[in-house]
Order: sequence, then C-alpha cells, then structure tokens
Amino acid sequence: MPSVLIVEDSSVVQKILKHIAGRSLAFNLVYASSRKEAMVKLAERNDWLAAIIDLNLPDAPHGELVDDVLGMGIPTIVLTGSVDDEKRDALTRRGIVDYVLKEGRYSYQYAVNLVNRLNRNKHIKVLVAEDSTVTRNFIVELLSRHLFQVVQVDDGRKALEALRKDDSIKLLLTDYNMPSMDGFELIHELRHKEDKVDLVIIGLSSAGDKYLSAKFIKNGANDFLYKPFSHEEFFCRIMQAVESMERLETMREMAYTDALTGIGNRRFFIEKARKYLDQAMDHGTPMSLAMVDIDHFKLINDDYGHDVGDEVLQHFATALSDRFGRFLFARTGGEEFCIVMPGLKQEKAFQLLDALRAQIAQDFADTAAGDVGYTFSGGLVQAPADNVESLMKRADILLYRAKDAGRNMVLVE
Ligand code: GH3
Ligand code: MG
Ligand code: MG
Ligand code: MG
Repeated sequence: MPSVLIVEDSSVVQKILKHIAGRSLAFNLVYASSRKEAMVKLAERNDWLAAIIDLNLPDAPHGELVDDVLGMGIPTIVLTGSVDDEKRDALTRRGIVDYVLKEGRYSYQYAVNLVNRLNRNKHIKVLVAEDSTVTRNFIVELLSRHLFQVVQVDDGRKALEALRKDDSIKLLLTDYNMPSMDGFELIHELRHKEDKVDLVIIGLSSAGDKYLSAKFIKNGANDFLYKPFSHEEFFCRIMQAVESMERLETMREMAYTDALTGIGNRRFFIEKARKYLDQAMDHGTPMSLAMVDIDHFKLINDDYGHDVGDEVLQHFATALSDRFGRFLFARTGGEEFCIVMPGLKQEKAFQLLDALRAQIAQDFADTAAGDVGYTFSGGLVQAPADNVESLMKRADILLYRAKDAGRNMVLVE
C-alpha cells in the first residue's frame, strides 16, 4: 500500500484533513506539521504515491518543501491561502499536480479526491499523436505528472497502428495537422472502420482556425482543446474526459451484473455466449451449454421467506463461481443459471456439472433461517447450433424433462 504525505502546520486544518483523508484514502497516511518533520518522514520510505503540502510552513515560508518534494519526483498537491495569476503560474511551472485554496472542507475533500484520481490514473493508458516535438513533450510531461501511462507517436498512421496493437489505450489526444494522416482521418478511421466506440478522443486545434474544433467533434471526437492551453485547462479537460469514461464503465458493468449475486446477468451471458459460439463454429472446436434451475425454489420462499430464498441464490452463485469460474456463467432468470464451456464436449461438461449437482444436493446454504438444503436440475447440450438462443432452447427442453423425471438430475441430448 503506497504512502501519502500530508503536511500542514495549522492544527485545526490538520484535524480536518485527518478526518477527510482517513475516510477517503485507503493508503498509508503520513502526517507532518513542518518541513523538518516532513523531511525526516520522507527519508523513512520510498513508496510515495503523492503529497499534499501547505505552501506556507513556519520553517518553509516560500514553499521550500514543495520544491523538496517535487525534487524527489513525488506528485504534489499544494494547499494555499491565496492565489493570484502570478502565483498560479509560478506554482504550475514548478511542476505541481494542482493547487487547492484553503476554503474549507470542500476544498480539502477536492485535494484528497485528487490523490485517488492520481492512483487511478496509473492504470489509464493515453496515446498522444502530435508531430510537433515541443508540444508533444509538453503534453507527455503534463500527463506523466498526473501519473498516466503515456504512449506517443508523431503521426496519425502510427497512432492507428498503436491503437490496433494495444487494446488497453483508453484515451487519445490528437493533433489535426500531421504528415501522413491527419487528426480527422485518424478519428474517422477509428470510429467508423475500427469500431473503437469506447476510446475517448480529444482533438488539439490551433486557436487560429475557429472551425477546427467543431469539425473535430463532428468527426467523432469527444472534446477538443485549443493550443496553446494552460496546465489547468488541460487537466480540467482530461479529468472530465477520464471521469465520464469511468462513469460509462461503471454503468456498463452494472448493466451486465446481477445485483443480488454479483455474477453476470442474462444480457452479459447472451452477448458473451454469442462470441464463444462464433469462435467454436469458426474453428470447429467443441462447446457445451448448460441451463440449470433450482428445484422447488418457490417452496423455499414459501417456507422460509424471500430473504432466505435470496441467500440460497447467493449460495448457488458462489458454488457456480467456484466450480465454473474459468467458464462463462450467469444468472439468466429468477432461479435459472446458464453456463457455456468452450472447448468442452458434452461428456466432459456432464462430469463437471453432475459433480456440482452432487455437491449441492448434500451441501446446505448457511442462511438467517439456519441451514437450508436444496437441489437443482439441468439440461446440457453442445454446439453446433445456428445461434445461442436455439442452443438455450434445446437445453431448456432437457431441463424440463429433468424436472418431469423427478428433479435433482442433469440430462444430456
Ligand atoms: P421447479 O422445480 O419446477 O423449477 O419449481 P420452482 O418452484 O423452482 O419454479 P417456479 O418457476 O414455480 O418458481 C420460481 C420462484 O422463484 C418464483 C419466484 O418468486 C422465485 N424467485 C424468482 N426470483 C427470485 C429472487 O430473486 N429471489 C427470491 N427469493 N425468489 C425469486
Ligand atoms: Mg422454475
Ligand atoms: Mg426452479
Ligand atoms: Mg424458473
């Protein structure tokens, strides 16, 4: 767990910071109230993620500690009582991450949130496509200061190659004018031919051409930035882009997750299963699909209540994850679950599924109403099939035969 240094001489402010940081930061928090004390603590370790530092300390009245910490390569957020244009420029030129006016809880919370932001940035890969070395170096330095992973190229064609090769690039900053492929062409290729819909793109345009920004957006960029830009403007745009990207990721995750059990839902299952089936059909490899359903689940609800029924579903989801974690599995209905086992023929898949059946039949779910035993039935089929739906239909027919035949059993075609 990396460390975060927080230096503040006012005991009142330090108390507020301790409260907010303690609640919001899951890092090793190190506090100091003077430059002297901070230097001792800095020397004790070398796992610093970031520092939040008061610009004016009794033994460092002109931000000397800020320079010390920046000199050690530690991303620094500065707390300051006041700021004018001159001071703002001087601070950003020194290489700080951001400055925060000491205006109360909200601003301290902002500083603390920024530390979390920096920590998340470490996992975000950004591609910079810009042919001007000066501008590119400037942008790369700014992004590195905020701990982003940075990849850089000097042309649109190279950007396209980099994006094809590396799926983990999440954000693209692209210039308009570049030697062999310009920014518009690049964005057009990405959005229309490469289907990179999730990539966040920010266009860079010179202030001279006032139509460039609109053209960027119309071509599919998410945002644009006029050159030259200030550090602050740059970061505000980047932060907004990255945060909306993360919100989208969270929403997508929620849309594919079953809230009760935390495993995938029906939408998740069908989309992934389609891909697996396509692959199996293309390569002529086996693939099995199972549909399982808890037996007399309605009686569990009737006997113990709906909450206990929920616990049984959670118990089953856990058992499924434990045994079928390497495959695709999901809760596709109320007490119905599906599994896709790529690479597995029906016989092998049956062994695995029947082992789960036997395990569940003798196990108990540990619930608020005590131990609850239950069983499930299943239908198992294998590719080929025209589509996932028809495969599921076939599995469903077998599942109902298993129910008719007495439950607690798995039937194959
Ligand atoms: P069978 O063996 O034929 O499958 O009988 P069953 O009782 O399991 O099947 P049925 O389809 O008749 O009833 C399923 C019940 O599952 C009805 C529904 O209220 C309950 N159920 C569906 N979703 C949930 C849930 O999220 N939580 C709980 N507790 N119950 C649920
Ligand atoms: Mg049922
Ligand atoms: Mg059932
Ligand atoms: Mg059902």
